[in-house]
Amino acid sequence: MIEPMLRARNVHKSFGHIEVLKGITLEVQTGQVACLLGPSGSGKSTFLRCINHLEKINDGELWVKSERIGYRRSGNSLHELKENETARQRAAVGMVFQQFNLFPHRTALENVVEGPIIVQKVPKSKAMREGMELLDRVGLADKYKHYPAQLSGGQQQRVAIARALALKPQLMLFDEPTSALDPELVGEVLDVMTSLAASGMTMVVVTHEMGFAKEVGDVVHFMADGQLVESGSPTQVLENPREARTQAFLSKVL
Ligand code: ADP
Ligand code: MG
Repeated sequence: MIEPMLRARNVHKSFGHIEVLKGITLEVQTGQVACLLGPSGSGKSTFLRCINHLEKINDGELWVKSERIGYRRSGNSLHELKENETARQRAAVGMVFQQFNLFPHRTALENVVEGPIIVQKVPKSKAMREGMELLDRVGLADKYKHYPAQLSGGQQQRVAIARALALKPQLMLFDEPTSALDPELVGEVLDVMTSLAASGMTMVVVTHEMGFAKEVGDVVHFMADGQLVESGSPTQVLENPREARTQAFLSKVL
Protein backbone atom coordinates (compact mmCIF):
# COMPACT_ATOMS: atom_id res chain seq x y z
CA MET A 1 0.00 0.00 0.00
CA ILE A 2 1.25 3.46 -0.87
CA GLU A 3 1.46 5.80 2.06
CA PRO A 4 -0.78 8.89 1.76
CA MET A 5 0.91 12.31 1.64
CA LEU A 6 -1.47 13.65 4.27
CA ARG A 7 -3.54 11.80 6.79
CA ALA A 8 -5.90 13.44 9.27
CA ARG A 9 -7.48 11.20 11.87
CA ASN A 10 -10.27 12.51 14.04
CA VAL A 11 -8.72 15.98 14.28
CA HIS A 12 -10.28 18.25 16.90
CA LYS A 13 -9.46 21.89 17.45
CA SER A 14 -11.09 24.31 19.87
CA PHE A 15 -10.58 27.97 20.60
CA GLY A 16 -11.68 28.39 24.19
CA HIS A 17 -15.09 26.77 24.47
CA ILE A 18 -15.74 26.86 20.74
CA GLU A 19 -15.01 23.65 18.86
CA VAL A 20 -13.95 24.63 15.34
CA LEU A 21 -12.83 21.22 14.04
CA LYS A 22 -15.07 18.40 15.25
CA GLY A 23 -13.19 15.30 14.22
CA ILE A 24 -11.83 15.68 10.69
CA THR A 25 -10.71 12.45 9.05
CA LEU A 26 -9.35 12.55 5.53
CA GLU A 27 -6.46 11.44 3.35
CA VAL A 28 -4.68 13.16 0.49
CA GLN A 29 -2.75 10.85 -1.78
CA THR A 30 0.64 11.73 -3.23
CA GLY A 31 0.22 13.77 -6.40
CA GLN A 32 -3.40 14.55 -5.67
CA VAL A 33 -5.00 17.98 -5.85
CA ALA A 34 -7.60 18.08 -3.10
CA CYS A 35 -9.96 21.05 -3.11
CA LEU A 36 -11.52 22.01 0.18
CA LEU A 37 -14.82 23.86 -0.08
CA GLY A 38 -17.22 25.12 2.51
CA PRO A 39 -18.97 28.14 3.94
CA SER A 40 -17.08 30.86 5.73
CA GLY A 41 -16.37 29.87 9.32
CA SER A 42 -16.51 26.13 8.67
CA GLY A 43 -12.90 25.61 9.78
CA LYS A 44 -11.05 25.33 6.47
CA SER A 45 -8.28 27.79 7.37
CA THR A 46 -7.94 26.33 10.83
CA PHE A 47 -7.48 22.88 9.34
CA LEU A 48 -4.69 24.08 7.01
CA ARG A 49 -3.08 26.04 9.84
CA CYS A 50 -2.96 22.89 11.98
CA ILE A 51 -1.12 21.04 9.21
CA ASN A 52 1.40 23.86 9.03
CA HIS A 53 2.06 24.14 12.80
CA LEU A 54 0.33 27.51 13.04
CA GLU A 55 -2.24 25.96 15.37
CA LYS A 56 -1.99 22.96 17.64
CA ILE A 57 -4.72 20.34 17.55
CA ASN A 58 -6.46 19.27 20.75
CA ASP A 59 -7.13 15.69 19.77
CA GLY A 60 -6.58 13.28 16.89
CA GLU A 61 -3.56 12.90 14.63
CA LEU A 62 -2.07 14.60 11.59
CA TRP A 63 0.55 12.85 9.53
CA VAL A 64 2.58 14.01 6.56
CA LYS A 65 3.96 10.81 5.06
CA SER A 66 5.49 8.91 7.96
CA GLU A 67 5.93 11.96 10.18
CA ARG A 68 3.33 12.83 12.75
CA ILE A 69 2.86 16.60 13.00
CA GLY A 70 4.24 17.85 16.29
CA TYR A 71 6.05 14.63 17.12
CA ARG A 72 9.29 12.90 16.36
CA ARG A 73 10.07 9.25 16.54
CA SER A 74 12.91 8.02 18.67
CA GLY A 75 13.29 4.29 18.53
CA ASN A 76 9.82 2.94 19.12
CA SER A 77 8.43 5.94 20.97
CA LEU A 78 6.98 9.27 19.86
CA HIS A 79 8.10 12.48 21.54
CA GLU A 80 6.39 15.83 21.33
CA LEU A 81 8.44 18.32 19.34
CA LYS A 82 9.85 21.31 21.16
CA GLU A 83 9.31 24.75 19.61
CA ASN A 84 12.76 24.88 18.06
CA GLU A 85 12.39 21.43 16.49
CA THR A 86 9.39 22.21 14.31
CA ALA A 87 11.24 24.03 11.50
CA ARG A 88 12.19 20.84 9.69
CA GLN A 89 8.66 19.43 9.72
CA ARG A 90 7.21 22.79 8.77
CA ALA A 91 9.54 23.08 5.76
CA ALA A 92 8.00 19.92 4.29
CA VAL A 93 4.73 21.79 3.91
CA GLY A 94 4.47 25.03 1.93
CA MET A 95 1.61 27.41 2.53
CA VAL A 96 0.17 30.24 0.46
CA PHE A 97 -2.23 32.65 2.12
CA GLN A 98 -5.01 34.88 0.88
CA GLN A 99 -2.96 37.94 1.86
CA PHE A 100 0.37 37.21 0.25
CA ASN A 101 2.38 38.09 3.38
CA LEU A 102 5.55 39.05 1.52
CA PHE A 103 8.23 41.01 3.37
CA PRO A 104 7.59 44.57 2.13
CA HIS A 105 11.21 45.73 2.41
CA ARG A 106 12.66 42.81 0.45
CA THR A 107 12.72 42.34 -3.31
CA ALA A 108 10.93 39.48 -5.02
CA LEU A 109 14.12 37.41 -5.12
CA GLU A 110 15.04 38.26 -1.51
CA ASN A 111 11.57 37.10 -0.44
CA VAL A 112 12.09 33.78 -2.23
CA VAL A 113 15.61 33.04 -0.91
CA GLU A 114 15.04 34.09 2.71
CA GLY A 115 13.72 30.68 3.82
CA PRO A 116 16.39 28.53 2.18
CA ILE A 117 19.23 30.75 3.44
CA ILE A 118 17.98 31.35 6.99
CA VAL A 119 16.07 28.14 7.73
CA GLN A 120 17.86 25.57 5.62
CA LYS A 121 21.34 27.16 5.60
CA VAL A 122 21.56 26.82 1.83
CA PRO A 123 24.62 28.70 0.49
CA LYS A 124 23.57 32.11 -0.80
CA SER A 125 24.74 31.60 -4.38
CA LYS A 126 22.83 28.32 -4.69
CA ALA A 127 19.71 29.82 -3.08
CA MET A 128 19.84 32.79 -5.49
CA ARG A 129 20.23 30.52 -8.51
CA GLU A 130 17.33 28.33 -7.46
CA GLY A 131 15.31 31.39 -6.50
CA MET A 132 15.70 32.80 -10.00
CA GLU A 133 14.58 29.47 -11.47
CA LEU A 134 11.48 29.59 -9.30
CA LEU A 135 10.70 33.18 -10.27
CA ASP A 136 11.07 32.07 -13.88
CA ARG A 137 8.69 29.22 -13.26
CA VAL A 138 5.99 31.63 -12.03
CA GLY A 139 6.71 33.99 -14.94
CA LEU A 140 8.45 36.72 -12.95
CA ALA A 141 12.17 36.36 -13.66
CA ASP A 142 12.25 39.91 -15.05
CA LYS A 143 10.76 41.29 -11.83
CA TYR A 144 13.30 39.83 -9.42
CA LYS A 145 14.45 43.25 -8.18
CA HIS A 146 10.95 44.60 -7.63
CA TYR A 147 9.57 45.25 -4.17
CA PRO A 148 6.09 43.92 -3.34
CA ALA A 149 4.57 47.42 -3.61
CA GLN A 150 5.83 47.59 -7.20
CA LEU A 151 4.02 44.37 -8.12
CA SER A 152 0.35 43.70 -8.80
CA GLY A 153 -1.59 41.46 -6.43
CA GLY A 154 -1.36 38.60 -8.91
CA GLN A 155 2.39 39.03 -9.22
CA GLN A 156 2.80 39.22 -5.44
CA GLN A 157 0.85 36.01 -5.05
CA ARG A 158 3.05 34.31 -7.67
CA VAL A 159 6.13 35.43 -5.70
CA ALA A 160 4.49 33.98 -2.59
CA ILE A 161 4.06 30.66 -4.42
CA ALA A 162 7.74 30.72 -5.50
CA ARG A 163 8.73 31.51 -1.92
CA ALA A 164 6.78 28.53 -0.60
CA LEU A 165 8.31 26.26 -3.24
CA ALA A 166 11.83 27.43 -2.36
CA LEU A 167 11.84 25.20 0.72
CA LYS A 168 11.15 22.21 -1.57
CA PRO A 169 7.96 21.14 0.20
CA GLN A 170 6.37 17.75 -0.36
CA LEU A 171 2.92 19.23 0.09
CA MET A 172 1.50 22.65 -0.75
CA LEU A 173 -1.43 24.25 1.06
CA PHE A 174 -3.33 27.12 -0.53
CA ASP A 175 -5.81 29.12 1.55
CA GLU A 176 -8.07 31.05 -0.83
CA PRO A 177 -5.06 32.22 -2.83
CA THR A 178 -7.11 34.27 -5.29
CA SER A 179 -9.77 35.71 -2.98
CA ALA A 180 -7.96 38.99 -2.41
CA LEU A 181 -7.26 39.58 -6.11
CA ASP A 182 -9.01 41.76 -8.63
CA PRO A 183 -10.92 39.46 -11.00
CA GLU A 184 -8.61 40.09 -13.94
CA LEU A 185 -5.61 38.84 -11.91
CA VAL A 186 -7.14 35.57 -10.73
CA GLY A 187 -6.31 33.66 -13.92
CA GLU A 188 -2.54 34.18 -13.80
CA VAL A 189 -2.38 32.71 -10.28
CA LEU A 190 -4.64 29.77 -11.15
CA ASP A 191 -2.44 29.12 -14.21
CA VAL A 192 0.65 28.82 -11.99
CA MET A 193 -1.24 26.48 -9.64
CA THR A 194 -2.44 24.41 -12.59
CA SER A 195 1.08 23.94 -13.90
CA LEU A 196 2.30 23.10 -10.40
CA ALA A 197 -0.41 20.43 -10.20
CA ALA A 198 0.63 19.12 -13.62
CA SER A 199 4.22 18.82 -12.36
CA GLY A 200 2.96 16.32 -9.78
CA MET A 201 2.85 18.48 -6.67
CA THR A 202 0.46 17.32 -3.96
CA MET A 203 -1.84 20.20 -3.13
CA VAL A 204 -4.66 21.04 -0.73
CA VAL A 205 -6.51 24.06 -2.05
CA VAL A 206 -9.19 25.99 -0.20
CA THR A 207 -10.98 27.86 -2.94
CA HIS A 208 -14.24 29.23 -4.19
CA GLU A 209 -13.04 28.88 -7.77
CA MET A 210 -15.36 26.12 -8.92
CA GLY A 211 -13.79 26.04 -12.39
CA PHE A 212 -10.40 25.26 -10.87
CA ALA A 213 -11.90 22.62 -8.58
CA LYS A 214 -13.61 20.96 -11.51
CA GLU A 215 -10.73 21.09 -13.98
CA VAL A 216 -7.68 20.64 -11.76
CA GLY A 217 -9.05 19.00 -8.62
CA ASP A 218 -8.81 15.23 -8.27
CA VAL A 219 -10.97 15.21 -5.16
CA VAL A 220 -13.34 17.71 -3.59
CA HIS A 221 -13.95 17.74 0.16
CA PHE A 222 -16.89 19.74 1.45
CA MET A 223 -16.66 21.03 5.02
CA ALA A 224 -19.35 22.67 7.10
CA ASP A 225 -19.48 23.56 10.76
CA GLY A 226 -16.19 21.87 11.60
CA GLN A 227 -17.10 18.59 9.95
CA LEU A 228 -16.23 16.90 6.71
CA VAL A 229 -19.65 16.57 5.13
CA GLU A 230 -18.80 14.75 1.93
CA SER A 231 -15.90 13.90 -0.36
CA GLY A 232 -15.73 12.68 -3.92
CA SER A 233 -14.70 13.48 -7.45
CA PRO A 234 -15.32 17.09 -8.52
CA THR A 235 -18.12 15.95 -10.81
CA GLN A 236 -19.79 13.95 -8.09
CA VAL A 237 -19.60 16.56 -5.33
CA LEU A 238 -20.21 19.65 -7.47
CA GLU A 239 -22.82 18.26 -9.83
CA ASN A 240 -24.50 15.56 -7.78
CA PRO A 241 -23.96 16.43 -4.12
CA ARG A 242 -25.47 13.87 -1.79
CA GLU A 243 -25.77 15.97 1.32
CA ALA A 244 -28.27 18.77 1.94
CA ARG A 245 -25.58 21.09 3.35
CA THR A 246 -23.48 20.68 0.21
CA GLN A 247 -26.50 21.32 -2.01
CA ALA A 248 -27.40 24.47 -0.06
CA PHE A 249 -23.84 25.81 -0.32
CA LEU A 250 -23.52 25.09 -4.02
CA SER A 251 -26.85 26.67 -4.83
CA LYS A 252 -25.41 29.91 -3.41
CA VAL A 253 -22.00 29.92 -5.09
CA LEU A 254 -22.61 28.37 -8.49
P1 ADP B 1 -12.97 29.21 7.32
O1 ADP B 1 -11.56 29.29 6.86
O2 ADP B 1 -13.67 27.99 6.86
O3 ADP B 1 -13.74 30.46 6.99
P2 ADP B 1 -11.83 29.41 9.97
O4 ADP B 1 -11.00 28.21 10.15
O5 ADP B 1 -11.14 30.68 9.64
O6 ADP B 1 -12.98 29.10 8.91
O7 ADP B 1 -12.67 29.68 11.28
C1 ADP B 1 -13.52 28.71 11.86
C2 ADP B 1 -14.06 29.26 13.16
O8 ADP B 1 -13.01 29.38 14.09
C3 ADP B 1 -14.68 30.63 13.04
O9 ADP B 1 -15.83 30.68 13.85
C4 ADP B 1 -13.60 31.54 13.58
O10 ADP B 1 -14.16 32.69 14.15
C5 ADP B 1 -12.94 30.68 14.63
N1 ADP B 1 -11.52 31.01 14.83
C6 ADP B 1 -10.54 30.89 13.92
N2 ADP B 1 -9.35 31.26 14.44
C7 ADP B 1 -9.59 31.61 15.72
C8 ADP B 1 -8.79 32.08 16.80
N3 ADP B 1 -7.45 32.23 16.66
N4 ADP B 1 -9.39 32.34 17.98
C9 ADP B 1 -10.73 32.17 18.14
N5 ADP B 1 -11.54 31.72 17.16
C10 ADP B 1 -11.00 31.45 15.97
MG1 MG C 1 -10.60 30.74 5.73
